[in-house]
Amino acid sequence: MKETVIESFEVKKLNAELFMPFTISSGSHKSLANVAVMLKTSGGVCGYGEAAVATHITGETVEQTEENLKKACASIVGRDAADYLKILNYLEESLDKNRAAMSGLELAVLDLACRLQGISLWQYYGGKENSVRTDITVVIGSEEKARDFMAKTRCRFQDFKIKVGIDFDEDIKRLIAVKEAAPSAKLIIDANCAYSPEDAEKFFNELLRRGIKPALVEQPVKKENFEGLKYLTEKLPLVICADESAYSLDDVFELIRRKCVKAVNIKLTKLGFMRARETWALARSAGIKLMIGEMMESELSSFAAAEFAGGLGGFDFIDLDTPFFLKDSPCPAGKLLENTGVYRLAEIEKGIGIVPGIF
Ligand SMILES: [Mg+2]
Repeated sequence: MKETVIESFEVKKLNAELFMPFTISSGSHKSLANVAVMLKTSGGVCGYGEAAVATHITGETVEQTEENLKKACASIVGRDAADYLKILNYLEESLDKNRAAMSGLELAVLDLACRLQGISLWQYYGGKENSVRTDITVVIGSEEKARDFMAKTRCRFQDFKIKVGIDFDEDIKRLIAVKEAAPSAKLIIDANCAYSPEDAEKFFNELLRRGIKPALVEQPVKKENFEGLKYLTEKLPLVICADESAYSLDDVFELIRRKCVKAVNIKLTKLGFMRARETWALARSAGIKLMIGEMMESELSSFAAAEFAGGLGGFDFIDLDTPFFLKDSPCPAGKLLENTGVYRLAEIEKGIGIVPGIF
């Protein structure tokens, strides 16, 4: 048998505790509860992937994702990993209803393909930028907790992303706390679909009145409310970014055609690796800004996203900070990830560069 043929697989839960709950307007992650997958060739080379399950955002569950992954893995056993593009196309069709499983298994296939070629995923995507630096998220919580968090992180990180959308006055207080702690930092605000267009307009005008001008505003209104995004893009002197609204290539095409947003958040878990690459090209040709984001993810898939963004280049916002919320990571990155948020991409030798310890 050819050495590059996928011979076996393993699917396991990937769990970790967090330092604090990761709370956003639509719900909360109390821990990292994902599913990891390993593919092995007959020559003994392994590729790894992580399916990031965010039930309060996508409705997907760990159990369903685990089951779908096992079925999908079984269906690609016997296929040649050298044929990886064909396998990726097949997965984007067959796992479209469970994007976490889809992107997790795509990642394992890509990791395997890169390892077989002796290159990193960053090189595979073009090797454009040697490193990328993530922002850090100030989650929803009390003003006091936000001040505490800022005291610990303001010297390490340059950009801060503030989650808002539950309480107007509390959000303003937290934003003032962040601004006071890091006056020159780039601020990104993410409402995760919480506002009506009118409430969003009020909220951001109040912030502007107080001298706080965010560099980016993510998903202020409901996922399907493209007109609301357009309204805010026209009304506010701010860069409005689609995240939940940008769930497919068709969505992004429509958002661009109707001039609804000036930026788009690409997440591999949302779009899959093939469509994410196409979305990147579409957004670049339309001249809108690019953000790379993630769900609650360990270093394994966070590095994949960093390599995708740094490899292709052209990303204005890097939001890959969830590894910094993990207490005991099951996929430690060592020196490849600095505690200032820098992903050192050019030093990765093969594949993603991260191997989960659970297999
Ligand atoms: Mg977002």
